[in-house]
Amino acid sequence: MKIENENVLEVEDLGVSFDGFKAVDGFNFYLAKNHVHVIIGPNGAGKTTVLDLICGKTKATSGSVKFKGKEMRKQREFKIVRAGIGRKFQTPSTYEGLTVFENLELSHPHGRGVFGCLFFRRTDEIMNRIQTVAQTIGLDGQMDTEAGILSHGQKQWLEIGMLLMQDPEVIMLDEPVAGMSVKERGETADLLRKISKDRSVMVIEHDMEFVREIADRVTVMHMGKILAEGSMDKVSADPKVIEVYIGH
Ligand code: ADP
Ligand code: MG
Repeated sequence: MKIENENVLEVEDLGVSFDGFKAVDGFNFYLAKNHVHVIIGPNGAGKTTVLDLICGKTKATSGSVKFKGKEMRKQREFKIVRAGIGRKFQTPSTYEGLTVFENLELSHPHGRGVFGCLFFRRTDEIMNRIQTVAQTIGLDGQMDTEAGILSHGQKQWLEIGMLLMQDPEVIMLDEPVAGMSVKERGETADLLRKISKDRSVMVIEHDMEFVREIADRVTVMHMGKILAEGSMDKVSADPKVIEVYIGH
């Protein structure tokens, strides 16, 4: 359903086929400003593929992906990132041998990068940004800790921090609380609510308690299509959703 207030992302009729198999088919999705919008659905429903299509990792065969009114569907992946769409993958991608500070630093768009840069300067702007992001993700007390010895939850937060360093307007997260303790899940919920004050967040998740805590809106996918959409209360009471997803 199209929301009439400001949408930062408008995805319409999005589709992709792999050898004739329609993994995503006629998918419509409107991400409102400052919303946390969660996609749920059974394994193989096409959730991860939707993120792949939006971030340009997989090329769509049909449809449109508009970011702030601008068509992005045929853009290259790095241009989509640069435009302001950040995506965290399921597999961890922190640099284990580097500290929290260094991981954040190299994620800054004007930062040194992992291979170093001759003209790099640790400007006040970059230092302030690292500090702010570290506070947001609750790791400001661990700036000198190597990423490799952080807890599983802390690593996930660091990765979210690395995305935040690029100051994206849209953040996409694929199953961010998988493998986390109950306490870490609660803290991640708080973090995502906090992040959405300044940007829009799209999350794929299975943990229904967590979804209930964070979601402004929920889209349920099944076999590449949208099965239901609306508030968590609405979709979780939908007989179709109970049948294909919640009931199992
Ligand atoms: P979900 O994240 O909802 O569990 P996916 O988006 O990962 O589901 O997968 C949806 C379907 O598309 C699955 O059947 C999967 O095997 C298929 N699929 C995803 N990516 C590719 C690809 N690059 N090539 C072929 N098939 C793919
Ligand atoms: Mg997936």
